[in-house]
Amino acid sequence: MGYKEISLKLPTDYAEEQLRKKIGKKLRIQEFSYQIERKSLDARRKSDIYWQILVSASSKQIKETARVISPPLNIPYRKREKKMAVVGSGPAGFFCALVLQKAGFNTTLIERGQDINKRAEGIREFEKTGLFNPVCNYAFGEGGAGTFSDGKLTSRSKRISQERKFILSSYINAGAPEEIEYMAHPHLGSDNLGRIVPKLREDFLNIGGKVLFETFLEDLKIENKKVREIITASGGIEADEIIIAPGHSAYETYRMLIKKDVKFRTKSFAIGSRVEHPQEIINNAQWGRKSLPGVKAAEYRLTSSGNGNLPVYTFCMCPGGSIVPSSAYKNTNIVNGLSSYNRNGKFANAACVAGVDLDKLNGKQTSPAEALDWLENLERRFYEYSDSFKSPSCSIKDFINKEAKSSTVESSYPLGLKPAALWDLLPSRVSDSIREGLKDFSRKLKGFEAGTIMGLDSKSSSPIQALREENYLCAGFKNLYIAGEGSGYSGGIISSGADGIKAAMAIIEKD
Ligand SMILES: Cc1cc2nc3c(=O)[nH]c(=O)nc-3n(C[C@H](O)[C@H](O)[C@H](O)COP(=O)(O)OP(=O)(O)OC[C@H]3O[C@@H](n4cnc5c(N)ncnc54)[C@H](O)[C@@H]3O)c2cc1C
Repeated sequence: MGYKEISLKLPTDYAEEQLRKKIGKKLRIQEFSYQIERKSLDARRKSDIYWQILVSASSKQIKETARVISPPLNIPYRKREKKMAVVGSGPAGFFCALVLQKAGFNTTLIERGQDINKRAEGIREFEKTGLFNPVCNYAFGEGGAGTFSDGKLTSRSKRISQERKFILSSYINAGAPEEIEYMAHPHLGSDNLGRIVPKLREDFLNIGGKVLFETFLEDLKIENKKVREIITASGGIEADEIIIAPGHSAYETYRMLIKKDVKFRTKSFAIGSRVEHPQEIINNAQWGRKSLPGVKAAEYRLTSSGNGNLPVYTFCMCPGGSIVPSSAYKNTNIVNGLSSYNRNGKFANAACVAGVDLDKLNGKQTSPAEALDWLENLERRFYEYSDSFKSPSCSIKDFINKEAKSSTVESSYPLGLKPAALWDLLPSRVSDSIREGLKDFSRKLKGFEAGTIMGLDSKSSSPIQALREENYLCAGFKNLYIAGEGSGYSGGIISSGADGIKAAMAIIEKD
């Protein structure tokens, strides 16, 4: 059997039969099987938008040699006696726990929030009443921060290909569409995630894992740099290795870790607001038309040097999505974005953020605890302005011109907008940079200035980073690991899941 990869150009609304015919014609073969390796939309020329598809075909009629497939993640199984405690059921904690359990350890996954059904119900209630629920919200609960999200599975890191494959195939086994393995910009959507996350939990339970919901890690009992017990509201849990993957919203957990002498440093991160446009504006700007058969909704990714200020970029774009109140704590007001798999909502949103170095911004050295205080105070400032979860907002034009003229606009945000001089709520250096970025983006994307800008988006990256040894252990500790986004070594679903897997593999290696 021979194997060959070919690159094909197909119309956006091609049918499978068309692809088959094209492969046969190009390779001059009749009997073959094929697999899509990569699929990306080429929209550089609006008059000629097409799918660029890399296909691998296998056939007796092909002479080339068989393909080289990179080996999958090797998780060595044997029955092991040691107990593992993993805190946080986000991608980092969950995939860490899954790999440890697959390796034969006795693994308990501990999550402060509720299971997905209760969590979804709690979020619906919050969006109806505006009454915040500390145990189930967009940040905390089963599946972590990204459960209700666009479920973008992109990651720029080249060092995590095995881990990435493991995560994607786990998602596919749990019901995700197979295209996530080959799309250039794969995404799951909030609706798919709502089905996948509990199925993954079931897979973990079926191989002997244990999950404790509504169990909050309050404290650690440490002797000679070894964690003897983790303390939760419902009692102590002993384990041989402790992996904490609390995301980067869990401020009190980081404060507890800092008090326990777990070492962190500050790092640069990004903050800003969300911009929102009718999706039609984005489709027109990117495709030159309102819709494109065979493609859900247009995306964008914009960068700006900030005209000598801080660098500004758009991040976590949600085509056909909604902006949601994603606060983790009462009296803080922040926003994030999500969409369904079909991305068929009326609006497009994205974070528009500036890269920040707190030491430079504040003109003094900032400790990790101070960095957390700084960010939390900013989140509180947005809450105090609205005295609710209404999102402070203005038009992009008003932000650029620094004058509050905008009248109420339609938005996807469920808890209402509060007109604001948003530029005054953000730190001035950040707001000046974002203003320059918005000007730049209005030149680059037709109609961009017609959008709305709202709220505080403070979760694109963590302001602190745990100090790690080469074997992933927290510096100086014998059995404590911090993984995922809150560790400061990852950002997003895939890289956080991969970080959790790497921590698990380091533990397996030393056992
Ligand atoms: C609305 C929204 C949309 C997003 N969209 C995307 C996207 O499309 N693509 C993408 O790549 N990323 C997206 N992200 C970011 C992504 O969700 C995170 O990068 C990722 O979830 C981080 O994974 P993690 O496991 O490190 O932490 P998290 O997912 O934050 O999980 C941490 C878990 O730990 C639990 N926890 C915290 N403290 C404790 C404690 N003391 N005791 C017990 N449990 C605790 C929390 O309840 C939480 O469930 C989105 C985030 C949000 C909020």
